[in-house]
Amino acid sequence: PKMIISCNLDDCACDVETIDSFNNDQLFPKLQALLESDYFRFYKVTLNKPCPFWTSSSHCGLRDCAVKPCSPVSSSFQPNQEECLWETREALLDWSKYDDEAQRFCVVDDEDSPDSQYVDLLLNPERFTGYKGPEAWQIWNSIYEENCFKPYTVKRPLNPNSFPSSSGGEARTFYSWLEGQCVEKRAFYRLISGLHASINIHLSARYLLQDSWFQKKWGHNISEFKVRFDSELTAGEGPKRLRNLYFLYLIELRALAKALPFFQQHGIRLYTGRPEEDQKHKELLLEILQLAKSFPLHFDETSLFAGDEKEAAKLREDIRLSFLNISRIMDCVDCFKCRLWGKLQTQGLGTALKILFSERQIKALPVSSDHRPSFQLNRQEIVSLLNAFGRISTSIRELKNFRSLLAEDW
Ligand code: FAD
Repeated sequence: PKMIISCNLDDCACDVETIDSFNNDQLFPKLQALLESDYFRFYKVTLNKPCPFWTSSSHCGLRDCAVKPCSPVSSSFQPNQEECLWETREALLDWSKYDDEAQRFCVVDDEDSPDSQYVDLLLNPERFTGYKGPEAWQIWNSIYEENCFKPYTVKRPLNPNSFPSSSGGEARTFYSWLEGQCVEKRAFYRLISGLHASINIHLSARYLLQDSWFQKKWGHNISEFKVRFDSELTAGEGPKRLRNLYFLYLIELRALAKALPFFQQHGIRLYTGRPEEDQKHKELLLEILQLAKSFPLHFDETSLFAGDEKEAAKLREDIRLSFLNISRIMDCVDCFKCRLWGKLQTQGLGTALKILFSERQIKALPVSSDHRPSFQLNRQEIVSLLNAFGRISTSIRELKNFRSLLAEDW
């Protein structure tokens, strides 16, 4: 049927079939196994930060927006039932505490804040929540506005009703504006659009199909998927959004490949207090990073910021600040489950960008840990990087499922 994706991104060499078979057959199963480990399933986050941009008028009361607190893991270290195993263990690790704010592309929640809590990601899967309408549009609208790279302290009056419709004149104006932008700004737009596509694939793949007092059934909703991605139903926008998803995949894959020396040299430990398991998961992580490095069709980020050095540095800083702003916007998402995954995925993408633009520092990492290395990742960044990539990898896998379902439907 109509859902064949042809990928001809002008910013990267990209072959959808190669990515599909690499992801679905090789990388996805390993990544799933890694993300089920204790190290990666617990994410520390502050979910009740106030929105810094506008007064949030409604508080989402939707049942499926609730986030379940962390389930305590049985351990002799565990101080009380409210806290996770990690709370005590992590205090033992000094490498996880560092500050390099100037390098970051996203806001990192203060881990020591009493409001910060561990969330068990496996207990809170990203899926349909029912969050939609003007509140959700207001978030997407303000995120896309970040493309304009206005000074990040300027707060714009927001009008959710002005969201460009897929087929309307505003959208056409927007796209002709986009085409005139430099490669960096177009790349930035594609990343956000890819993330948006991924979120919408997940909610279509784990849709609430049946909701009665005795049973809830979650599964693929083909018509929801079609409304969002079918070429005809979206006036050609759907396939472009899917291409942006593949673009995002390549960028994050590249970041994983580039992070390999950091994980190899830095003697990183995936510390959970169970040495055998930790070693097994560390080996699995390195295997995944090696696999990422072996992928032949990599996005070449050296084509970005390749112009005049001063200009390039300014553009990089503009993008960094815009991205920081996007991560702040996540605190305005009314639905807590969406906020959780939105924060995790922007932090993961921010970490990927930090890696991509720190190549020099990663190469200069000392082999011994005598002095403080010039590049660091803390536990939150590592967990968000791998989980964010896990989401994109799962979306690519879900596209395969939707293609089969659409073929049956045909
Ligand atoms: P929206 O997805 O809200 O999109 C608004 C407009 O943006 C569209 O009309 C279209 O013109 C344009 N657009 C759509 N997709 C793209 C794209 N990929 N690239 C460029 N432009 C695009 N809902 C859930 O059920 N579960 C979740 O976990 C969840 N997480 C969310 C996380 C965040 C951060 C946000 C902001 C929203 C989340 N939502 C979630 C809501 C979901 O993304 C949609 O906003 C909602 O389903 C309403 O969809 P819509 O059809 O009105 O269009």
